[in-house]
Amino acid sequence: MKALIFDKQGTENLRVGDVEKPDPKDGEVLVKVAMAGVNPIDNMVINAIPGIKPMPHIAGAEFAGIIEEVGPSGKSAKKGDRVAIFNRYFDGTCDMCAKGMEMLCRNGYITGVMSNGGFAEYIAVNERNAIKIPDATSWEMAASLPVAALTPYHAVNRADLRKGETAVILGASGNTGRFALQFAKEKGARVIAVSRKQSMAEFGADDTVSSENALEKVKEITKGRMADFVLNSLGEKFWNESFLMMGSNSRLATFGTLTGPQVSLDLSGVYSKHATIMGSTGGSMREFRELASKSPDYKLKVWKKFKLEEGQAAIKALSSSDRDGRVMLQIS
Ligand SMILES: [Zn+2]
Repeated sequence: MKALIFDKQGTENLRVGDVEKPDPKDGEVLVKVAMAGVNPIDNMVINAIPGIKPMPHIAGAEFAGIIEEVGPSGKSAKKGDRVAIFNRYFDGTCDMCAKGMEMLCRNGYITGVMSNGGFAEYIAVNERNAIKIPDATSWEMAASLPVAALTPYHAVNRADLRKGETAVILGASGNTGRFALQFAKEKGARVIAVSRKQSMAEFGADDTVSSENALEKVKEITKGRMADFVLNSLGEKFWNESFLMMGSNSRLATFGTLTGPQVSLDLSGVYSKHATIMGSTGGSMREFRELASKSPDYKLKVWKKFKLEEGQAAIKALSSSDRDGRVMLQIS
C-alpha cells in the first residue's frame, strides 16, 4: 500500500513509499483511509517530538475511512461501515479507563505518534476505537472529529459551561477554534470570538473581536463583568490578557501552547476571582460517540485538500499565514 513516510524527521524527508498493508489482529479492524486532517501534532511528529516510533514512520493522528476487514473476534463492526477513529490507544482495564477517561489510559498512546498513523491507504486499529458515523456526515467532517472537534468538545464540557454564561474563544478561526465556538453556542453561552479574520458569526459567535484590542472589547461587551469561560490554546503570547478576561468564578482551559508554554501567574488574581485554570487533553470515548452522532449538524471550513503525494505541501500549508480553514489529506 501507499503511505506518506519518513525515515528521518523533517518535512523535507516526507515521501510516498510502498509499505506492507497491515493485517488486522484479534480485536482489530482494517480501515481504508478516506480522509485525514492535518494538525499541529502531525507537524510536531514529523519535525520535533523525540523518540517517535516505529521508524520509518507514518504520521497522521486524525482520520476516517471505511472498514475493509474485521479481525477474527470482530463484534459489531462490518465491512463497508463508515467510521471515524478515536485516536488514543487504550486498554479499557486501568483505573482511568474505568472512570471513562480513556484519553488518560495508563497504558495509552496517540495513534500516529507512538504507532503508525493514518497518512496511509490502510491502517489497522482496535475495533472499539472505530465509531460509525451518520450517512449525512462528510468525510471532511468525519476526519475532523478525533482531534479538531473532540479536543475543544471535552474542554467545554470540562469547564461546565452553562446557559447564559459568557465564553471567550481565542484563536477562534483555527482548527479547534471554529468547533469551540459551536460547542459553546450549543451550551447556550454568549460567545465572543477572538480572531484576526472575518466575522465568526457563521460558527456561532455573537461577537467577533480582533486580537489587538480583545481585552478592551470583552470588558465593553460584558459591561465589566468579564468572561465565565476563556479558552486559550495559544499559550504565552496571549496569557496575560486571557487571564485578565476571567471574571468571578470563571474557568480558563488550555490544550495547546502554539505561541509558547511559559507564563507568569498572579496567584492573588486566582483566588480573588475564585478562578479555575484547567488543562485539557483529548476527550473520552463517550464524548467521541456523542460528537459522531451530532456531527451532521456541525460546520467546517476546509481551506485546502492535498493528496498523499503532496504531503510536504500539506504540512507547510498548516503554518501558512493566509490559512483560512482546515488542511486535509484526501487519501481515497
Ligand atoms: Zn486504560
